[in-house]
Amino acid sequence: MTSHYSLYIDGKWVDTEENYEICSPATEELVATVAKGGISHVDAAVSAAQGAFDEGTWRRTPPAERAALINTVAERLTARIDELAALQSRENGATVRITGALHVGLSAAQLQYVAAIAGDYPWESEGPVIEPIPAAGIVVRQPIGVVAAIVPWNIPLLTTVWKIGPALAAGNSVVLKPDEHAPLLPLELAREFDAAGLPPGVLNVVTGDGEPVGAHLSGHPGVRKVAFTGSTAVGKSILRQSADTVRGVTLELGGKGANIILDDADLDMAVDGALFACMANNGEACEAGTRLLIPAAQRDAIVTKLVARGATLQLGDPLAPTTHVGPIISAHQRDRILEYFRIAMQEGATVALGGGTPTGPGFDKGYWIEPTIFVDVTNDMRIAREEVFGPVLVVLTYESDADAIRIANDTNYGLSAGVWGTEERALAVARELDSGMVWVNNWHVIHPAYPFGGFKESGLGREGGPHAIDEYVEEKFISLDRSGGIENKAFAIVIDPAAT
Ligand code: NAD
Repeated sequence: MTSHYSLYIDGKWVDTEENYEICSPATEELVATVAKGGISHVDAAVSAAQGAFDEGTWRRTPPAERAALINTVAERLTARIDELAALQSRENGATVRITGALHVGLSAAQLQYVAAIAGDYPWESEGPVIEPIPAAGIVVRQPIGVVAAIVPWNIPLLTTVWKIGPALAAGNSVVLKPDEHAPLLPLELAREFDAAGLPPGVLNVVTGDGEPVGAHLSGHPGVRKVAFTGSTAVGKSILRQSADTVRGVTLELGGKGANIILDDADLDMAVDGALFACMANNGEACEAGTRLLIPAAQRDAIVTKLVARGATLQLGDPLAPTTHVGPIISAHQRDRILEYFRIAMQEGATVALGGGTPTGPGFDKGYWIEPTIFVDVTNDMRIAREEVFGPVLVVLTYESDADAIRIANDTNYGLSAGVWGTEERALAVARELDSGMVWVNNWHVIHPAYPFGGFKESGLGREGGPHAIDEYVEEKFISLDRSGGIENKAFAIVIDPAAT
């Protein structure tokens, strides 16, 4: 049986004239129908969010009580982890190996973490006495107002809680726009906030197309902050839009992660790690390690191992626990990846594994790309510079550690990187990489207590980590005069004495 999901505006579930049909990318079977929002729904949601903010129940709720409600939602997600993980796998094709621990489990942990840091957060702090006036000073950290959260289809729940967790902990109101291909878990999350007693209008969810619905939301004059995860092109357009109203943005954008195997690395571990770095979440991960940099002197040995291990990856049903790589989100994305294969070969790259679409049982429906490895790649080729967003690894060679660092940093992106080798040397390389995350002898280590985000065109600001709430507050300095009045001598310094 398929379910139907409505929009969530002002605490009510709202249906629309048109619906999206959410179909499994593995089987093309209908998973759910979802109300398709339009511009008028964005206007209604922003207005509800502003109304709730002005009315003030949530922002005046003590931070500890806001945190308790967020914790309740985390518990509810945890209780439903298997069901939600399966739903996510059916909706966007990410494998259940990943959707349980990463998509749902880490999202619940992220909410718990933000609730915990909200307890210790300096919502109001007194500073030193300001001499010689004297005056007392207080810094108040207050919510910004209406926050727009726009998220993609690849890891929808985690990218959502990274935004709405700290935004709600700080007392803001939120309008969330999930991606039209994968809105189900953000809508399930809204259901849990509703059940936990979040006041109406504080969280609103409008599923709609990027253009015009997402663009209308991110450009809405009622929105005071935009938090966005998605492509660099759309991130740039949001940054431009935000100039008009001088509002804050947090951007989590694309990546082209360099994964460096040093010549003293444990090759068995590094090769498996390289496949995990690139192919997890079907390669549809912004932080994927998509450029593998190997020492030229070890090229043949490493490529042989890589291809042998890559050939053992199980491609197939995302709901099967043995599957490593599932389908691609849509026919459009699959065709985009195939076009990159054509370009790569035209530019001189060679396919060492995969390179096409699989055939046979299990692959007659859905959208599939074989786990693919390209060799003979140079860093100027488009396959090495642009984000492919699929299970596609490109292998480049380097001559020295300095050369590896140069190639790794020679990109417009700067989200993730990795280094495999003995720790001291790998750490020295890691310190030189222009990247928001660098994993040494590991990959995809994402933890609520550590920041996630990118250098350069990979983004602006950080999500998660100890400063997550800072992105969702305005700081206000209140000075309290203790001088006894304007006649005070301190003012005589700055005000014309003749006028006093
Ligand atoms: P996308 O930018 O097309 O879409 C992302 C979201 O933005 C969707 O909700 C979409 O509807 C909306 N959108 C589209 N056009 C818009 C517009 N003009 N104005 C406002 N909103 C608009 O991205 P995509 O291709 O669907 O997602 C994959 C991209 O997301 C990849 O580039 C990937 O690297 C990136 N990503 C980044 C992170 C990160 O944390 N850095 C995480 C996941 C995905």
